[in-house]
Amino acid sequence: MSSIKKNEIASYELPATQLDEKSRKARDEKIQIATIALCGCWGCTLSFLDMDEKMIDLFDKIAITRSSFSDVKRIPHRCAIGFVEGGIANEENIETLIHFRENCDILISVGACAIWGGVPAMRNLVSLEDCFKEAYLESPTMLPEQEKILPFHEDLPPITNKVYPCHEIVKMDYFLPGCPPDGDAIFKVLDDLANGREVDLPREINRFD
Ligand code: SF4
Repeated sequence: MSSIKKNEIASYELPATQLDEKSRKARDEKIQIATIALCGCWGCTLSFLDMDEKMIDLFDKIAITRSSFSDVKRIPHRCAIGFVEGGIANEENIETLIHFRENCDILISVGACAIWGGVPAMRNLVSLEDCFKEAYLESPTMLPEQEKILPFHEDLPPITNKVYPCHEIVKMDYFLPGCPPDGDAIFKVLDDLANGREVDLPREINRFD
């Protein structure tokens, strides 16, 4: 298996699968789904796994074109539904979100971080300068002899002054609250959309904590 360099990740395409023509056509005719994690903790992404075996029947209708688990930040063809975990904390998050908006018919904010910034948005209470100072220059966990360095590299995306919710960057079509949302809630939204129904999320699985 070939290794991928860090600066190649954004443009990396998954290798062609070994599907025969008929299987590839069947896959491509399904409803294409993409998911991506921006500035979050991946807890919402893990909730996707909580859909468990309920997903099996849905796979007759849907195909997952891009998954947050591969963290490939570009989608190769238009998708019907995009799920976005996490808010916007750097310029790469902005580029990725705009790319998803341009390539997904329906875009869904999943979880508190995508909807209002969540835990990362706590840094909005202080200036970016103070935030960097606390994290890298005056951190109580630094050893006295430790060199004080602000991390900088051309491959590191510039940090935004504030953490933003996704809908302040692009239009989002649905909001799925929770920290994280239940796997059952994600499944209900996906099942409704895949079957052409209005999204109808019962209160008992629509959590705000
Ligand atoms: Fe993690 Fe909660 Fe943010 Fe989801 S909403 S990414 S679970 S902190």
